[in-house]
Amino acid sequence: MAISPPQPANLKTITVLDVPIHQIDMATALAQIDGFIRSGQPHHVVTADASMLVIAHEDAELKRIVQTADLVTPDGAGLIWASKRLKQPLNERVSGVALVEKLCSLSPATGYRLFFLGAAPQVAERAAERMNSKYPGALVVGARDGFFQQEDVPAIIERIKSARPDVLCIALGIPKQEKFIAQYKAALGVPVLIGVGGTFDVLSGNLKRAPLWMQRLSLEWLWRLLQNPSKISKVKLLPRFVQLVRQHHK
Ligand code: UDP
Repeated sequence: MAISPPQPANLKTITVLDVPIHQIDMATALAQIDGFIRSGQPHHVVTADASMLVIAHEDAELKRIVQTADLVTPDGAGLIWASKRLKQPLNERVSGVALVEKLCSLSPATGYRLFFLGAAPQVAERAAERMNSKYPGALVVGARDGFFQQEDVPAIIERIKSARPDVLCIALGIPKQEKFIAQYKAALGVPVLIGVGGTFDVLSGNLKRAPLWMQRLSLEWLWRLLQNPSKISKVKLLPRFVQLVRQHHK
């Protein structure tokens, strides 16, 4: 008999700046997502990093969306630092890039169908092609870029629905992707909707991930900054995150 995964309500959370983050590793996140897919009902998965928590601190709508998401994974060195300060250490980051790639790698065996929505023209398409060829039999069944007008949304929803994905990965940046998911998840009816930020830029090969030694030293942010100096606005949120955590969690 198949053992059903624990429901998110049973997972422990750590609350950072009023936002509950699930204390999970990659394997548990994948088990949860598998349960969401089996349920057939829409579920919102958030990969939360320090920049998201700072933005949510000033954006009540985003904060409410993350607080009511079905699964919130810990992403980024900032959150690992905060968890240690709160004496509830998180063991592992579960980033959007790692989660999407894992789901692609499991797709041939599980039959998971994925759709990539977001990033500049051709980037999501290239990411889909690369995943399908890296994992033969993987079912990334559709892709489209994230630069569209409001009037295009109904056609985009129809296109996604006709591809029948189990997992919709949305890369429109924070907080646009989270608000898009909250607004359209019922209309889309996809079991798992994940906001994945810059994931397609990495999976398409446009941006390289940091070397392992840098990832181990939690310096991936520095690598990203060196590759893409426009990311400075995001990096600037880190000291603000540290300041807010110090104020709120004495
Ligand atoms: N993006 C998009 N449509 C928009 C704005 C942004 O598709 O209207 C894409 C952008 O090309 C990039 C991603 O959203 O691929 C945001 O990545 P980033 O790492 O900057 O996002 P974060 O998660 O840090 O907000």
